[in-house]
Amino acid sequence: MDRPGEFDLIERIRRRAGTRADVLLGIGDDAALLQPPAGMQLAIAMDVLNAGVHFPVDTAPADIGWKALAVNLSDLAAMGASPAWCTLGLALPQGDAAFVDGLLDGFLALADAHRVALVGGDTTRGPLSVSVTAHGLLPPGSALRRGVARAGDSVWISGTPGDAAGALGALGLGLAVPHEHAPADALAALRARLDRPTPRVALGLALRGVAHACIDISDGLLADAAHVAAASGVAVEFDVDLWPTSPALAAAFDTDARRVLQAGGGDDYELLFTAPDGAEAAIEAAAARSGTPVTRVGRVRAGAGVAVRASDGRAWAAGRRGYTHFGEDA
Ligand code: ADP
Ligand code: MG
Repeated sequence: MDRPGEFDLIERIRRRAGTRADVLLGIGDDAALLQPPAGMQLAIAMDVLNAGVHFPVDTAPADIGWKALAVNLSDLAAMGASPAWCTLGLALPQGDAAFVDGLLDGFLALADAHRVALVGGDTTRGPLSVSVTAHGLLPPGSALRRGVARAGDSVWISGTPGDAAGALGALGLGLAVPHEHAPADALAALRARLDRPTPRVALGLALRGVAHACIDISDGLLADAAHVAAASGVAVEFDVDLWPTSPALAAAFDTDARRVLQAGGGDDYELLFTAPDGAEAAIEAAAARSGTPVTRVGRVRAGAGVAVRASDGRAWAAGRRGYTHFGEDA
């Protein structure tokens, strides 16, 4: 069997990595050399994806590659940064060239779509783990932060929450199971949302100067709203009846199960943001410009924590509040 060593694998990666004019030195030296545009700020995000924790062990190599970059681009999107460069850390149980080629198929498809250059990394032996750092650029003072929501803001989200959690549910790994007549094509659509999340990069850029606070929904709608609330010193109140539901989630889960998935499930990589009254037209324009659906789902109030109500004002009891690694309440 072909068991290429570390240097053969790195050479395979180097041959396929894209570049940009601002990459003075990419893969091949002791460090990459980059030329940031004068006066711009750098935003840097990193996420580690471990097999069996951050993706199901049966995930295709190309999907692992896509997701490893997507979750990082999502963090840059949530800051309103324009992605430019990334690095890739690989721990592999064996020097499996076919696995690396497959991983690159997904990783580089997303990198090329966003004109992100892979400029370096590290390749080691160990339990399967993929670490990515992504570097983005933004004008000084324009970053979208999570700590600047204000009482009176509306709360918005992009896309449809709960889809990735629905896929995990169908695998028996989630907060709820599909009903017994769940159509196969709906379950496949949910699995695609888990495996190939869409980082909302264009929306993040379009929300600069429009949104107050912004965060990406990686831990779950309620958990990430709680992060905004805590960082901003405010309360977030959702109207559960406003949460947008994808056709696939609606087809595969009963209403109560669907709401639990939407409240507590992570891995959607949509943006949650707040904006003052009067910003609706600018938000709709940002959504249209970026080709991203957005929905108003709640309000920021004075106080602390996260509340979920139905449209008739009654409190809605959610299940768990989000995914955390150590089981603490988020
Ligand atoms: P060093 O020992 O100097 O750290 P390495 O042998 O680890 O160098 O890496 C050689 C070159 O290959 C470096 O430019 C490094 O950034 C790059 N590289 C190593 N692994 C990867 C990877 N998985 N993805 C992208 N570049 C990589
Ligand atoms: Mg090294």
